[in-house]
Amino acid sequence: MKKITIVGGGPAALMLAAQLDTKKYQVTLCEKKKTVGRKFLVAGEGGLNLTYQSDLEELISQYSPSEFMAPVLRQFTNEDLMSWLDFHGVSTFVGSSSRVFPALELKPIEVLNKIVEYLVTRGVKFQTDTKWVGWNAEGNLSFEGFNDAASDLVVFALGGASWKVTGSDGEWRTAFEKRGVIVRPFSAANCAFGVDWDKNFVKTHQGKPLKNIGLRYKEHFSKGELVISEFGLEGNAIYALSQKLQEGLLNEERVVVHLDLKPTMTVAQIRAKYKRSKLTKVTEVLKKDLNLDRTSIGLIKQFTDKSTFLDPDLLAKSIKSIPVIIQSADELDKAISTLGGITLEEMDENFQIKKIPDAYAIGEMLDWYAPTGGYLLQGCFSMGFALAKHLNELEVVNELA
Ligand SMILES: Cc1cc2nc3c(=O)[nH]c(=O)nc-3n(C[C@H](O)[C@H](O)[C@H](O)COP(=O)(O)OP(=O)(O)OC[C@H]3O[C@@H](n4cnc5c(N)ncnc54)[C@H](O)[C@@H]3O)c2cc1C
Repeated sequence: MKKITIVGGGPAALMLAAQLDTKKYQVTLCEKKKTVGRKFLVAGEGGLNLTYQSDLEELISQYSPSEFMAPVLRQFTNEDLMSWLDFHGVSTFVGSSSRVFPALELKPIEVLNKIVEYLVTRGVKFQTDTKWVGWNAEGNLSFEGFNDAASDLVVFALGGASWKVTGSDGEWRTAFEKRGVIVRPFSAANCAFGVDWDKNFVKTHQGKPLKNIGLRYKEHFSKGELVISEFGLEGNAIYALSQKLQEGLLNEERVVVHLDLKPTMTVAQIRAKYKRSKLTKVTEVLKKDLNLDRTSIGLIKQFTDKSTFLDPDLLAKSIKSIPVIIQSADELDKAISTLGGITLEEMDENFQIKKIPDAYAIGEMLDWYAPTGGYLLQGCFSMGFALAKHLNELEVVNELA
């Protein structure tokens, strides 16, 4: 029987271990923390968004590069993930925003435990408290706290570089670079962005959500929620643009996003509603006729001059395009996910690292991007599934040869 060592114990690794044929492979999973799935549990703190319910093509379009992720997601779709979880006692429900969560009675730790228990029944050996530190002089895997590291194949699933406390610290980068593998530097994705707010504005509106808004950066547009914070802006609407904003911050002198406070109305419709109003004070029209909340009105006042505010035509345009200058991205460690990692050119279509024989890598440690909404976990689970399928088939070919 061949030996596979999986290094890292996040969702990508767990799905791989769940799908590998344990009649053909002896599977050992090495995790440097005392327990596996720490980031998965952190993800669960704000509502464990396991995947997103949508048509498969729409799902694929959310990933970048989507051509890399498409074959992976087709092998293990959002529907497949929901069925698999259901089969293992994790029933799911689709929230109002099409996000998929575990049934309300299930805590994230229970979801994780069900997966881990299944792996134990399959004979997967867990080697926790075991940090991989690179390769030794003979080219074998080298660990702190574990000597029996000889294996035929290794799969790395070491995660990105945010929320270091969970174990995903990106320290693995150096060992791969020593082997000539190109690792793109990490930067924050799905993160908050800094805005130089007026002190009084932020004092009043900090923590307030702007719901159902649109956000534009160049030709990119997202819809969702924003929250005003002391640092700047957070929420799914800006997370969705994070990859493009990071590119902008790297390459442009000024990065400006435009908030659309009424994405379901055109400028002409806003103007017409304004015209029909019987109210005289602008703030009252905004509040009562256009249903804008205090924070939205505060933003309009903050980012328009007096003459624009008093001119219904200009005001209607402003409501749909409030310019906010983005100063910076939040710290890497606070990000939900990271950009960067092993570049995809280093990988073949089966997740094999071209420059390291018999070594594979999956999950967030590769350089791909997806917004929040369950796409990150879906991507990691799908990669785990796809690689297991490949390795299971590979073994069959070897046996027949
Ligand atoms: C606050 C927060 C909320 C999130 N919410 C969601 C959500 O709701 N939905 C969603 O889809 N995604 C969410 N995510 C993202 C999601 O959790 C990650 O994309 C996912 O966990 C990545 O899985 P992975 O298997 O690639 O790596 P990870 O989950 O990062 O696991 C990697 C593992 O490798 C281990 N490791 C690292 N280095 C070594 C080493 N040298 N030796 C041994 N072990 C090592 C780590 O300890 C870790 O356990 C969230 C993330 C955060 C931070």
